[in-house]
Amino acid sequence: MAFTSVNPATGKRLAEFAYWDAEKLDSVLQQVADATPGWAATPVKGRALLIRRLGETLREQREQLAAIITREMGKLIGEARGEIDKCAWLCDYYAESGPGFLADETLESDATRSLVAYQPLGTVLAVMPWNFPFWQVFRFAVPGLLAGNTGLLKHASNVPQCAKSIENLFIEAGFPEGVFRSLMIGASQVEGVIADLRVQAVTLTGSDSAGRKVAAAAGAHLKKSVLELGGSDPFVVLEDADLDGAARAAVTSRFLNGGQSCIAAKRFILVDAVAENFLARFKAGVEALVPGDPMTEQATLPPMARTDLRDDLHRQVIASIEQGAEAVTGCRPLEGEGAFYAASILDRVEPGMPAYSEELFGPVAIVLRARDEADALRIANDSPFGLGGSVWSADTQRGEAFARALECGCAFVNGMVKSDPRLPFGGIKQSGYGRELSHHGIREFVNAKTIWIR
Ligand code: NAP
Repeated sequence: MAFTSVNPATGKRLAEFAYWDAEKLDSVLQQVADATPGWAATPVKGRALLIRRLGETLREQREQLAAIITREMGKLIGEARGEIDKCAWLCDYYAESGPGFLADETLESDATRSLVAYQPLGTVLAVMPWNFPFWQVFRFAVPGLLAGNTGLLKHASNVPQCAKSIENLFIEAGFPEGVFRSLMIGASQVEGVIADLRVQAVTLTGSDSAGRKVAAAAGAHLKKSVLELGGSDPFVVLEDADLDGAARAAVTSRFLNGGQSCIAAKRFILVDAVAENFLARFKAGVEALVPGDPMTEQATLPPMARTDLRDDLHRQVIASIEQGAEAVTGCRPLEGEGAFYAASILDRVEPGMPAYSEELFGPVAIVLRARDEADALRIANDSPFGLGGSVWSADTQRGEAFARALECGCAFVNGMVKSDPRLPFGGIKQSGYGRELSHHGIREFVNAKTIWIR
């Protein structure tokens, strides 16, 4: 068994790395355990300086890192550069604001002095997906390490070069050996790492099925866990929306990263009064997308990350069409080399179809018709997922009321759902639990210790 790196635009094999055996894994877990007390004892200012240096190192290596991302998982090169920039922004943000989030918090009580001290938990394992192969890892590692934890990364098996590059970045930025390590292990080895007494907590970003396995292992060993899982975010267009602006945002939100984003708008819920007008604009934008080599600036639709994922997506689309959904555009794999799938819209989606209740993780938009605002809210919340959601209306008070009623972790009014280091990020229902980013994220993997002094 091995980590295999394949260029999804061409199908060509780039590299292969054998999974570690038990002995190698044990020696790395011990190295990290040995580094943990020293890192926890390093003053937070010293840790913040290294986080800042990590951001600078990312910026220095922007071009080569972006190229590794694009070659290995296929996203557009411009978006890969954007991902590196966002990681560097995250480093700046936490280097600046993180020490304040970790400062002692004085609370009144019957003590002479009582306070909360935020102390690290120890070593945190991160099980990460390939879709934003740098951002997802940094989103965990930067606040986690700043808080004084050490980090272990089990990256997705199709992005080993990203995993190795990220580990090297920490070394090049000057972090002590063993503070952050990439584990070259398969999914079947994860439970053993969670069980290991040298590991105190686990975070997973990925599918709900992987989330269930990791949460069960964490529960069995009573270890803290955070889960950032899939989503099927609603994008609700009310009759007073700016249809041009909403349609532009709809194309960006659904097709960014080849449609492989947890917070992509996936279910377009249109009130009848504007459904046809919105759909005409949306369809024109979708059909203008240009599939092509993601290393070139001309391409606006990249391949999917793997052919098996494309085939799974197509099965969901075909099964929905067989049950009565209507292919407005696309809805087929593209011929030729690479894992390309046409930019697609599936209309008349109804309960019972895979497209209604499952996540479609690729370039396929689903359209659902609603009678009015109340019906739109009912449909939006009729999902096992609860990650993000957006609503489009000229009346921002109406939009805010709708956003408050959406069952999700992040609701946006007249803007596409996006992550921002300053705002908490995470889901409810089958989209997981816990939060990343902002002061909420950095406090997930700390011991909020009460200290009471008379
Ligand atoms: P995935 O198949 O669940 O894989 C994610 C990670 O979990 C990989 O490292 C994978 O390792 C590992 N894994 C899979 N099965 C496991 C198991 N039984 N035990 C332990 N680890 C296991 O997901 P993906 O296809 O890479 O990513 C797409 C999914 O992630 C989508 O559902 C998407 O919505 C979600 N996602 C969520 C967020 C968020 O913030 N909420 C962000 C991005 C993506 P292998 O690669 O070795 O199998």
